[in-house]
Amino acid sequence: MKKVFLIIFSLLLVSCGKTVMEPQTQYVLGTVCTVNLFEDGSEELYQDIFEALNAIDNKFSVNKEYSEISKVNQNAGSVNAVNVSQEVFEVMTVAKKIARATENSFNPALGTLIKLWGIGTDSARIPSDDEIEEALKHCDPDSIILSEVDGSFKIQILDAKTQIDLGAIVKGYAADCIAELLEKRNVKKAIIDLGGNIYVFGNKSENPDDMWRVGIRNPIDPDAQPVEIVSLKSGSVVTSGNYERFFEKDGKRYHHILDSRTGRPAETDLASVSVISDKSIDCDALATAFFVAGKSGVFEDILDLREIKTVFVDLSGKTVVK
Ligand code: ADP
Ligand code: MG
Repeated sequence: MKKVFLIIFSLLLVSCGKTVMEPQTQYVLGTVCTVNLFEDGSEELYQDIFEALNAIDNKFSVNKEYSEISKVNQNAGSVNAVNVSQEVFEVMTVAKKIARATENSFNPALGTLIKLWGIGTDSARIPSDDEIEEALKHCDPDSIILSEVDGSFKIQILDAKTQIDLGAIVKGYAADCIAELLEKRNVKKAIIDLGGNIYVFGNKSENPDDMWRVGIRNPIDPDAQPVEIVSLKSGSVVTSGNYERFFEKDGKRYHHILDSRTGRPAETDLASVSVISDKSIDCDALATAFFVAGKSGVFEDILDLREIKTVFVDLSGKTVVK
């Protein structure tokens, strides 16, 4: 009894007569997700947030055979389009737009190649040149056809061997959804951390000059001090780097961000890229795209996306903020 009381007490902090829960963490979207609602932290709201994150995972995950994306993938090459929810349709629409704008540096049609390498799974391996060449024939986002017919949303993959993978954009989308939910519930401030995909929500304090400060990890030595501190009023900071998921063979590192020109882990001159904007979905996809494209990657069409800020860290640790 005493033990139960102690545990409950340690979970609850009492502020202004209101019961406030500590930040909550769950493994969702293939990563560790933590949400801090500060003084608005109620059990019900935390529950709703993690339910929403799990619902997104269940629609988008390529590791769940019942997900909508898996259904679309299973029907690749079929003459029939697959019915999907409006949200899957909308994320796929943004994904295709960013693919076009980044010359496929961000490519949502890399599923076949991603499976072949298996980076981040137990079956990670270096495929043969022939296997890579074959997979590369099936990575064209133009093979993914989106259509809206009488209010239903449909996706069809024309080529039987092309597969969708939205792993580089879905956490950003999810962070935006949670921010929207918090807005509706009149939450004052929150930190949403979906595996390092950060969204700082609301005013940090009563003082309007008080900004959130988000540290950018040193990609060369992740235990060292942050290479940069980004100050922002509210919005998202997303980083893609070569240190997140990888395997090593014969002293060479094979990380999980692939280049659809070569079919191999991107041989980029950057160690990490962070993108800051009020739309986490843009941040997520663009961090991946800029990382693949490297220092010299300039995408003119990005200019019609929302205003974004970037932090590039090169292989020597030099940081450029733009
Ligand atoms: P993380 O998910 O680790 O934060 P990213 O957002 O960069 O990093 O997403 C990487 C994931 O996206 C990979 O695990 C893979 O599923 C997929 N992916 C890999 N390369 C690309 C690419 N060039 N474009 C789009 N998706 C990619
Ligand atoms: Mg990404």
